[in-house]
Amino acid sequence: MSTTKGSTINLSSLASSQDLQQSIQQHLRYTLAHAPKQATLRDWWLSTSLAIRDRIMDSLVATQDAHNENNVRRLYYLSMEYLMGRMLRNNVHNLGLEAAVCEATQALGLNWDELCEQEVDMGLGNGGLGRLAACFLDSLATLDLPAVGYGIYYEFGLFKQDFENGKQVEHPDTWTTFGTPWEVVRPEYTQTVQFYGHVEAGYDDCGNYRPRWVDTKSVLGVPFDIPIAGYATKTVNFLRLWSSRSTEDFDLDEFNRGDYVEAVREKAIGETISKVLYPNDKTENGKELRLVQQYFFVACSLADILRRFERNNSDWHDLPKLAAIQLNDTHPAIAVVELMRILVDEKHMGWDDAWSIVTRVFAYTNHTLLPEALEKWSVALFAKVLPRHLQIIFEINRRFLDEVEAKWPGRDDIKVVLSLIEEGGDKMVRMAHLAVVGSHTVNGVAELHSRLLKSDLFPEFDALYPGKLTNKTNGITPRRWLYSCNPELSKLIDSVGIESDWPKNLERLRALEAKAEEASFQQQFMAVKRANKAVLAEVIKQECGVEVSPDALFDVQIKRLHEYKRQHLTLLHILTLYHRLLNDPQADIVPRVFIFGAKAAPGYALAKTIIHAINSVANVINNDARIDGKLKVVFLPNYRVSLASKIIPAADLSEQISTAGKEASGTGNMKLSLNGALTIGTLDGANVEIKEEVGDDNIFIFGLTVEEVQRLDREGYNPYHYYDNDAELKNVLDWLCSGYFCPEDPHAFEPIRHSLLAGGDHFKVMADYRAYVDCQRQVDAVYRNPSRWAQMAILNTARMAKFSSDRTIQEYADEIWSLPACPIQE
Ligand SMILES: *Cc1c(COP(=O)(O)O)cnc(C)c1O
Repeated sequence: MSTTKGSTINLSSLASSQDLQQSIQQHLRYTLAHAPKQATLRDWWLSTSLAIRDRIMDSLVATQDAHNENNVRRLYYLSMEYLMGRMLRNNVHNLGLEAAVCEATQALGLNWDELCEQEVDMGLGNGGLGRLAACFLDSLATLDLPAVGYGIYYEFGLFKQDFENGKQVEHPDTWTTFGTPWEVVRPEYTQTVQFYGHVEAGYDDCGNYRPRWVDTKSVLGVPFDIPIAGYATKTVNFLRLWSSRSTEDFDLDEFNRGDYVEAVREKAIGETISKVLYPNDKTENGKELRLVQQYFFVACSLADILRRFERNNSDWHDLPKLAAIQLNDTHPAIAVVELMRILVDEKHMGWDDAWSIVTRVFAYTNHTLLPEALEKWSVALFAKVLPRHLQIIFEINRRFLDEVEAKWPGRDDIKVVLSLIEEGGDKMVRMAHLAVVGSHTVNGVAELHSRLLKSDLFPEFDALYPGKLTNKTNGITPRRWLYSCNPELSKLIDSVGIESDWPKNLERLRALEAKAEEASFQQQFMAVKRANKAVLAEVIKQECGVEVSPDALFDVQIKRLHEYKRQHLTLLHILTLYHRLLNDPQADIVPRVFIFGAKAAPGYALAKTIIHAINSVANVINNDARIDGKLKVVFLPNYRVSLASKIIPAADLSEQISTAGKEASGTGNMKLSLNGALTIGTLDGANVEIKEEVGDDNIFIFGLTVEEVQRLDREGYNPYHYYDNDAELKNVLDWLCSGYFCPEDPHAFEPIRHSLLAGGDHFKVMADYRAYVDCQRQVDAVYRNPSRWAQMAILNTARMAKFSSDRTIQEYADEIWSLPACPIQE
């Protein structure tokens, strides 16, 4: 770290603060055309952002210049989602301009925190997968790795969530309405993409078969670049997002015929492609526009990658030396086919030659084992939208099945399982199989997930391609998820003599272990937590109108709303405590504030019902004077990155209670633990590794293991068994669905009960209830011992080094991408 920390007054910081102040004033006047008197807070936020952007641009130009001069190997990260959140504070921190910007804004009579609050989140993603991509970009730049992120410039990101009478309502996210200071439009790199049409057979001058893809419709992709500044380094990479435009501004014929409206409508269709992010998390729904979006951004990105390659290179065989492409889930898997199409159809390369290049370029990250989340596209839809690509898929599959035949002669049963095409009434293209076959490496995102990938999802692939399936446990950037979001804890860390480069060297926090039992440090650590809780209590007051005490245990469950994540299990625990308190006011219960944040996919009815149920129960509990405020339940609306940054530093308990085997990794679990929250969780995803790191004594583990879940599924699972044999469980579930909590619609929560009983309780809520509620008693017991709790919390923060995304990205760079760093000289 250069100038932002430490107590000595730094002259260069002073100089840069005066420069910055001047630059902010200049942007206010010359970019926004305002005098300070008329300027709103938003104007000041924009001017400040533009002043910071200027400083990033110098390094962006220097970085790209160095990468081009040296013809470096680059990593291309293809992702349909990037959940970036707010950028100003993180850019300031990464540039080391924190002290300067604080001084500059103060001199202008502004409050820095208030200024940062003006920024609208860049929410171009649903949840964990999109946030992982954002953390990876931060680590790539911080580690000086040459990389470009590619994605879609959605005009509307993830919907804004409101509650009306406790029910979720969605509003469009209009983040682009007033533009963003962080983008640079690059019309000079516009690409044209073809869709639809049909394939004609044909032969070239030398008698070679050359199919032609004709009568296509085309759209333009215009790139918008978001600079990505590394922490305490010169490297500035960029995220390139494609916005779709019509090829013709107007259909002139129709225009001349006077049909102005029809002419403009055609244009609007071309712009629909990048209009809106699909708000589904973990469910694919086979919509044509989604396939069009995937191909649109993949085709633009590949064309851009090849343009860059051709600038410095002439032999296509060198492509795998210069480019590594990572597929973030199967959403961009069509890239495998598109590169084959370009090499074979356009560059006239032989199939085997082209295939050898393709399979040395791509690698694929699998994010889920849930069957409903594995992407499949109907062959009929493919034939319509991408007819030439479908032919190529068939040819890839034909050759692949020959390989399978060579390995397992005569085993048609294995061919049926492995084929890229799922046979049946409606034939489907299996995108995961395409991604596995077209990649040199496939990775899961936590040890457990990667093991299940090999044993359960792709056992035959693992036998066919030994060593192709690997693990890269996810991580989070400590810059956003500790340094920026928790300044008080960061200051405490600095104050105990830990080297100030800990945000890029998280191992340094291990030094806190030595202080975990020290009473005075425990008090300081918990005082920071208490102060963060007081700040969050204010947010809760404003957002939910509920008063909560910072002395209560803050029990946090923040993540997408999904049955496998089991927010309804937490709800059953809340009802259990409420019931115990009503029947015994002296009941031995630690006062708790239950804090939820979660969006439900708009079409996921049961998830929305669970939100409604939590809000309805909250409304009753929060207004029941009989329990003397011992329980509070709040559901903060519109969960997003900026809200996560406020909740996480204030959390005591982190709920990570998915059904074992269903959560691939989780990253919220890492953020919370890093900020000194204790985890109550199942042995699922990265929880398993968090337990290994923090130690068995510093985490609360309960519930079925993967093996036990699988045995229940095999031998027959009966949720009524638990309902009939656990009176407390039966009582709270019946109570929830009795109409007591929602008199205006007494049957509103019946679907929850149905899913847990007659519906078969696919996610084993009933089976895990008792273990969960008992484990929560242990949580209470430990919370009553403040010193023990503090020690555990400190050890969580101290032992999170493994979960820095710097570690994750270094593993990808070493083991998948063979990607050397390229530090940028001053
Ligand atoms: C980290 C994060 C997630 C992922 O949370 P999980 O608990 O791992 O599902 C989702 N949304 C936002 C806004 C996040 O910051």
